[in-house]
Amino acid sequence: MEHAGKIMTVTGPVEPKDFGFTLPHEHILVDFIGAAEVGPHRYNADHVVETMQPYLEAARALGVTGFVECTPMYLARDAAILRTLAERTGMHILTNTGQYKPPYLPETTFSLSAHELAAQWIEEWNEGIDGTGIRPGFIKTAVEPGVLPDILRTTITAAALTSRETGLTIGTHCGNWLAAREILTILETQQVSASRWIFIHAQNESDSALLLDAASRGAWIELDGIGEGTDEAHLVPLLRLLDAGFEAQILLSQDAGWYRVGEEPGGEKKSYTYIIDRFLPLLGRYGLNQQLIDTLMIDNPARAFTIQP
Ligand SMILES: [Zn+2]
Repeated sequence: MEHAGKIMTVTGPVEPKDFGFTLPHEHILVDFIGAAEVGPHRYNADHVVETMQPYLEAARALGVTGFVECTPMYLARDAAILRTLAERTGMHILTNTGQYKPPYLPETTFSLSAHELAAQWIEEWNEGIDGTGIRPGFIKTAVEPGVLPDILRTTITAAALTSRETGLTIGTHCGNWLAAREILTILETQQVSASRWIFIHAQNESDSALLLDAASRGAWIELDGIGEGTDEAHLVPLLRLLDAGFEAQILLSQDAGWYRVGEEPGGEKKSYTYIIDRFLPLLGRYGLNQQLIDTLMIDNPARAFTIQP
């Protein structure tokens, strides 16, 4: 498998040991206008770069070197903007292939089989995204809480097929154990290990005990809404997972940023530094030492995004 053992950034493959302190779920640019209208004609790329570069530089100055940009196709994923920002800041930035959920799917997706969808996503891995030559570093999908409708069973199956072919990790906007459980069963059926799947927005599962079930099946548990006013919502599941010995399967991030198309000049932004300024220092009060923080912020993201057969 090409690039097995590496992490694929928008500027090419890097060694996992060089990924460093990483924010595994953030955004630089998002547009919720819908698949029929979304596109680069909706924003000025130079303005997006100029606006967002200082936010990345502030994080870089505090030691952040890895940055996973989670905006999917049809929501203004713009690989060229990410490459420019990676070159300007020296950060390792990842983008993704895959598709989100209704109403952010194009009409055509509903008429495709999982294999046909996967073929499109695998082509992005082989040929690059939108003619840029930039390759995805992971597969992004999304579901609603609860029982999955057919269209989302199709996209999750397509993600599994793509992962099997490319070695890329799958991340799913989820936040609900019932949906997560169904996803894990689909992955199992497709012979994709649960360790290749990230339970995004896991802090939104109201019963944090259920996250232990997901972790015990091998999934990555991502607590990724860290920011002003949400410390407790993240501490409760985090401490619970740590007490149960799952420190090697936890990802922490902020879902912060981002330049909002349509709210010129890019709307209100959330900085990428709250986790370093406030949240990680808070963990010391609960007995977490630096070694454990390094596991969470350095070792885990590097393992989660390493391309694996
Ligand atoms: Zn997000």
